[in-house]
Amino acid sequence: MSLVSTMERALRSPLGHLEQVRGLWAADADDRLVHALLFDGPDGVGKYLSALHLAAGLFCSEGPGEPCGRCGPCHRFSSGGAESNHPDLLIVDPADWEWEQIKLEAIAPREDGEVPTRRSVEGFLDLSSVEGGHRVVILREAHLMNPAAQNALLKTLEEPRPGTVLVLVTSRPEELLDTIMSRVMRVHFGRLDLTAAAHLIHELGPEGLDERMAADLARWSDGSPGRALMLLAQGRPAERELLAALVGGKAGPIECSRRVWELDGDFPGKTERAKARSRARAMLDLLLEVLLDLERFGAGRPGEELAHGDLVGDLCGRGRLPFERLPRVHQLLRQCRMDVLGNLTPEAVLDRAFLGFATLLP
Ligand SMILES: [Zn+2]
Repeated sequence: MSLVSTMERALRSPLGHLEQVRGLWAADADDRLVHALLFDGPDGVGKYLSALHLAAGLFCSEGPGEPCGRCGPCHRFSSGGAESNHPDLLIVDPADWEWEQIKLEAIAPREDGEVPTRRSVEGFLDLSSVEGGHRVVILREAHLMNPAAQNALLKTLEEPRPGTVLVLVTSRPEELLDTIMSRVMRVHFGRLDLTAAAHLIHELGPEGLDERMAADLARWSDGSPGRALMLLAQGRPAERELLAALVGGKAGPIECSRRVWELDGDFPGKTERAKARSRARAMLDLLLEVLLDLERFGAGRPGEELAHGDLVGDLCGRGRLPFERLPRVHQLLRQCRMDVLGNLTPEAVLDRAFLGFATLLP
């Protein structure tokens, strides 16, 4: 992955969403920036990066506006690796707490007198600004707040402190209390168009990522650079190359199935077995995605509109595609997916899936 840290990235403009962020800086310059914002939109489109960019531009000594990248506040913002060293910024990210939900203690100080491991939102906002400007809280995956945490946050929203800005970031605003929704200004972040997404993936991706691959990833991720970077981190393009070898007649189904286990990739799971299941599921998902594209192509959608249009094109270029077999293969792949979840040996399930998929080859 890129060596550029998230914070350094956030100092630069989040392409595609700059207008929304500029509007908020302009509001701040006129002293009419609201104290609670909700950034919503699909996963991976740049909501969090935009929230960081907003904060950097509020802190910058030349701001509010595009962060200069040279002043003291900009330097403090971007130093510190994955986290920011700026003393007036608090980021609440459930991933840092290794929590599946955001608990009360992330929002309000503990009442049992125990010292919390991290600062709560309330505890942070109670302190005055270190640098004399705004204090900013970014609450990532805000929909993961449990009911107690949401109620505590409601109190914070009802008693705003001057100079504070709270940004809730979420892809699922419907899971937040109506009373929270009525107290925040909603800013929507849509999918990027494929050209902008490809540009961003090329810029943020690892060195050596060529433009063609960036464009493929933009289509594959449906215009979501965050998802594209995750696909890269998991080594998914290599899986796709395996499939291309199968489709192009350069490797047989069992050979491809075996090679899946040799690919580099970081798959979620606490045990080796769980990781193997995640890997098998990812491969099965890819087979299903390609199959769905074949069905769409058969129904008249042009190949260039499809995430895997190139594979579909290669497959169709080798002879007539047996469209009548698609439903059966589809059913087989779905069954394989259930079998992996049901704890059957993932290696054997993948063999079966690849053999089934290969019945579509000429
Ligand atoms: Zn600056």
